[in-house]
Amino acid sequence: MDIIEKLTEIFKEFPGIGERQAKRFVYFLMSRTPGYNENLSSLIIELKKEVAQCKECFRFFILSKKGEKLCDICANTNVDSSILMIVEKDSDLESVKKSRIYNGKYFILGGLVPIVEKNTKSRIRIEELKQKISKENGLKEVILAFSLSPQGDHTDSYVRNQLKDIAEKLNIKVSSLGKGLSTGTELEYSDNDTLKNALKNRQ
Ligand SMILES: [Zn+2]
Repeated sequence: MDIIEKLTEIFKEFPGIGERQAKRFVYFLMSRTPGYNENLSSLIIELKKEVAQCKECFRFFILSKKGEKLCDICANTNVDSSILMIVEKDSDLESVKKSRIYNGKYFILGGLVPIVEKNTKSRIRIEELKQKISKENGLKEVILAFSLSPQGDHTDSYVRNQLKDIAEKLNIKVSSLGKGLSTGTELEYSDNDTLKNALKNRQ
């Protein structure tokens, strides 16, 4: 593989990027100055040094001091710890947080469950989620907030099923966000009103 092919392969791994777009990125980088590309590569290296993954919700956050273990939401005592919203990915959490319609805790599942999948547990943090729920004090409700798509629906029922026993035992309600979101809606692209409705009409 030459360098163009190597870089194309890397960009193809980015979410939502196909072969053609990946190639366009490579040609774009070729047209930049050496300084531009050096700055880009050093920022990519810095990124890993300046962020950490929260021990509680698995969200990536910018470290304000070395060795920090919790993100600002998990560390904040004003956050309502009786509700826990389960989302697929960081960008979903960020859009719900930005909308200011929800003041509870979050948990990032790390993906959706593909409809045809044998080894589900290796792809999402279901065991981590169960552990978190069982040690959480005062938790009353878990809100499943996945995209309204066949894969999102499938993930919703999978997680419900997995949490059934523990939720019954600890008397925790499991609800789903979604009524109010139209089919095919990605959580991260939903506007405030849509999110507000979906949260109000959760069931
Ligand atoms: Zn956190």
